[in-house]
Amino acid sequence: MQHVIVGAGPSGVTAAETLRKIDPESSVTLVDGEVEPPYGRMAIPYFLIGKVPEQGVYLRKGDNHFENLGINRIQAHAESVSVGDNTLTLDNGEKLPYDKLLVASGSHPIKPPIEGLDRPNIHHCWTLEDARNIAKITGEGVDVVLMGAGFIGCIIMEALALSGANLTVVEAGDRMVPRMMDQNAGNMIKNWCLEKGVNVLTSARVNSVDETDGKLSVNVDTGDVIQADLIVVATGVRPNTDFLDGAGVEIEDGILVDNNLRSSIDNIFAAGDVAQGPDYSTGEKSVHAVQPTGVEHGRIAAMSMAEKGVDYRGSLNMNVLDTLGLISCSFGLWQGKDGGESAQQIDNENYRYTLLNFDGDHLVGAVMVGRTDQMGIMRGLIMTPVNLGAWKERLMSDPNRVVEAYIDCTRGDGA
Ligand SMILES: Cc1cc2nc3c(=O)[nH]c(=O)nc-3n(C[C@H](O)[C@H](O)[C@H](O)COP(=O)(O)OP(=O)(O)OC[C@H]3O[C@@H](n4cnc5c(N)ncnc54)[C@H](O)[C@@H]3O)c2cc1C
Repeated sequence: MQHVIVGAGPSGVTAAETLRKIDPESSVTLVDGEVEPPYGRMAIPYFLIGKVPEQGVYLRKGDNHFENLGINRIQAHAESVSVGDNTLTLDNGEKLPYDKLLVASGSHPIKPPIEGLDRPNIHHCWTLEDARNIAKITGEGVDVVLMGAGFIGCIIMEALALSGANLTVVEAGDRMVPRMMDQNAGNMIKNWCLEKGVNVLTSARVNSVDETDGKLSVNVDTGDVIQADLIVVATGVRPNTDFLDGAGVEIEDGILVDNNLRSSIDNIFAAGDVAQGPDYSTGEKSVHAVQPTGVEHGRIAAMSMAEKGVDYRGSLNMNVLDTLGLISCSFGLWQGKDGGESAQQIDNENYRYTLLNFDGDHLVGAVMVGRTDQMGIMRGLIMTPVNLGAWKERLMSDPNRVVEAYIDCTRGDGA
């Protein structure tokens, strides 16, 4: 059996290692489109603030890790797939035959069509090379504009602020992290950032970027004109699927895959950020672009490819953010369930917030700010799932009693 994997991020690497373990007779080839050793984007902010050296972002230690495992790693780009004869063509001209192909090629950031965004000193923060470029410019007193306060934007913001930059964040949504946090949480995070000295504009769009003598001016539709030495663009991503053009693989927000992480083509699988896979909470298909899902997908896809039989119920939408020291997270159906009930407790002064969303007596989603003590429990309550019984009403009056509820309900008496 010849397994070929495109992409050596957390998802592809996990898949290759899992296949090596569970299908020792097969050949495993990892097509790695990066010039660096396989690395984790998640560690980039730590590299940016000098907390880890470059080697600290590598996913695996040791130069010969893949060779030692018997994984054939080829540094090249996948260029096209011929479904008829099961062959992957690389940009170095090589043609790789495969029995099973896993697409774990992630996504790439996009620049919105804004005049002037092609000027110098405007970068994404996606690759190690981006991080090197940003690290060269940012620092004490440097004027930095961050476009986008989504999940990735907020993660980068921490690193930029810690570098000592004068930071302005411009977010088109009406709150921070609008795709992961409700209004209360998004506003709370914004106020926290303002208190920490970061200038945050929400409901604001960059119209254009000018440059005079090396200094950038960012023209915002609020009328603000912000001076910048560096602009970091974090305004969204697209899946890396170009090489599948014409192959007949069904793609929406990502490659559509079933509970085996199999695409619309029988022997092509997808995992990680590039995959639009089963969503635990909705039963529909979603892209959950976080590393734990990528790793889980990699393992599940490998088991499917090795025909080990999987019973994957899908990934839980779960996002945890540390914004300048304020922890926030959202789980599952954080926007609530139609016809369901919600309970919330907000303490703006102390930056603490809990929102619980119920479907009947099941917890199906949650948002928390300023608390780390209940994260594991929230996940457990949503995924088990626990019949809350009488605890539902207690949580409706005090949503912060989830730990007690979990302990009591999982003991079996349900009340
Ligand atoms: C700055 C930053 C911080 C983040 N922080 C967090 C965090 O704190 N927590 C969290 O859970 N997630 C975080 N993420 C998201 C997380 O990094 C991704 O969810 C994760 O990397 C997805 O893994 P993946 O293997 O699917 O894709 P990727 O890591 O993107 O790997 C895909 C690989 O495929 C390669 N590739 C693409 N096209 C081809 C081709 N045609 N041929 C060969 N190779 C190709 C790419 O170059 C890349 O190396 C962060 C992301 C960024 C950018």
